[in-house]
Amino acid sequence: MTELGLFWHRRDLRLSDNLGLATLAQRSLRLVGLFCLDPALLDPQEVAAARVVYLLGSLADLQQRYAQVGSQLLILQGQPAMMLPRLAQALGATQVAWNLDVEPYAQERDRQVTEALQESGLTVQTTWDHLLHEPGAVKTGSGTPYTVYTPFWRNWRSQAKLPPAPTPDQLAGLTDAEQAIAHDHTIALPSANQLGFTWDTDLLLPPGEKAAHDRLYDFCDREQAIATYNDQRNIPFLPGTSRLSAALKFGTLGIRTLWVAADAAYQRSRSDETRTHVETWQQEIAWREFYHHALYFFPELADGPYRDPFKDFPWDNHPDQFQAWCEGRTGYPIVDAAMRQLNETGWMHNRCRMIVASFLTKDLIINWQWGERYFMQRLVDGDLASNNGGWQWSASSGMDPKPLRIFNPASQAKKFDPEADYIRQWLPELRSVDTQPLVTGDIPFWERDRCGYPAPIVDHKVQQNRFKALYKAQKDKG
Ligand SMILES: Cc1cc2nc3c(=O)[nH]c(=O)nc-3n(C[C@H](O)[C@H](O)[C@H](O)COP(=O)(O)OP(=O)(O)OC[C@H]3O[C@@H](n4cnc5c(N)ncnc54)[C@H](O)[C@@H]3O)c2cc1C
Repeated sequence: MTELGLFWHRRDLRLSDNLGLATLAQRSLRLVGLFCLDPALLDPQEVAAARVVYLLGSLADLQQRYAQVGSQLLILQGQPAMMLPRLAQALGATQVAWNLDVEPYAQERDRQVTEALQESGLTVQTTWDHLLHEPGAVKTGSGTPYTVYTPFWRNWRSQAKLPPAPTPDQLAGLTDAEQAIAHDHTIALPSANQLGFTWDTDLLLPPGEKAAHDRLYDFCDREQAIATYNDQRNIPFLPGTSRLSAALKFGTLGIRTLWVAADAAYQRSRSDETRTHVETWQQEIAWREFYHHALYFFPELADGPYRDPFKDFPWDNHPDQFQAWCEGRTGYPIVDAAMRQLNETGWMHNRCRMIVASFLTKDLIINWQWGERYFMQRLVDGDLASNNGGWQWSASSGMDPKPLRIFNPASQAKKFDPEADYIRQWLPELRSVDTQPLVTGDIPFWERDRCGYPAPIVDHKVQQNRFKALYKAQKDKG
């Protein structure tokens, strides 16, 4: 038994269903939580303000939870490899535990922290927690990692899932004397402004454990949107998806808890149709795991394309066109509506993420990595593995074997926003325009002028053909 154990929270901002925390709680007489504000992960140029607001709100919530069960969550600021050993030694702790992460930066950081802690004589305990199946648990028959989603899904689906980990309802924390020592090594939780971020809009999902659990309950039980997911998930105007992505990014919700709720919805389904809806949602959870496993086994994905034809692709990379895309001024209503949703709320519907990503890469012929970075600068749920996976899928540079996927903005709007409700919601200047031209994008120039809405910055057909030709030339080069 450890006298005092420290639990380092990272992307698991909760007490419930937290495997690493539950394990340490069993082994320690006293347990205290830590979070380290690492300047390397909080660059205001690179990190979305909405994401930082969600993070800080969730930390405030977690501090309250620790207080409720009798312990503390301490906030450190600085390089984890320096800050953690210093605090652990000052408090006389003997064990530090955390849940593992797939990101290359996190893995290197953890290696350094482990080394520093071990040099100081502490024991380190690590656990996989944020995935239902850890990297390596789902492999092909020949023992290699999957590079294609469908067989991954089948294998992943067939494997037994762990039940939620027990939630500690009582934890002994620091003594008064130790709290005085901790005070010298820690800081009060700062505001987003103090960290250099400004965000004034309500978040799509309020921070913290309770809001995440309530949302899961609404989605799977109370409103049962999960039971119609297949019909509604592609309509960006409707709240047909769970909007739990920030909770999964920061772990305010345990993945096993989520799975139990989804499985219960599956079990109580009375028809094959309903079961299909639930299973489609479960497949999205598996996409998240597929991308996390992929990043773990192929860390080079974080730095560039997976497929050869994209390794030295002759992108146009026009800065003005990129700026127009970022600001939602391309002259293509469905694209601009989506970018405005992102800029105003910090979140974008999945269908629209695919549309704008296809537009950036195939219509503007701009390197997908520019879009990937912009998403990380704006998304409340910005997550390296899922974002990189989504961008490489859309750019056709990733693991997906389908070579070229080009979305026609007009066809996408016709199918998924036929009444232009979403377009009108996010492009108020176009609200008076008839539905048909909003959907097709064929808005007369005089009407664009009247509404103060730009002309299309490129011609979809022309660019589509250009992209195909460039791609073919790349492929032929071998
Ligand atoms: C270009 C692009 C960039 C993306 N960037 C991110 C990102 O930074 N962070 C992120 O969490 N998701 C990202 N996605 C995936 C997806 O768009 C979001 O997870 C989803 O829109 C979140 O909304 P939701 O919680 O309502 O999803 P739901 O439809 O309710 O799905 C439930 C959960 O499954 C996971 N999920 C769903 N779809 C995907 C997917 N295609 N890939 C991976 N996980 C998925 C998410 O964790 C999501 O919260 C991206 C997709 C694309 C095409």
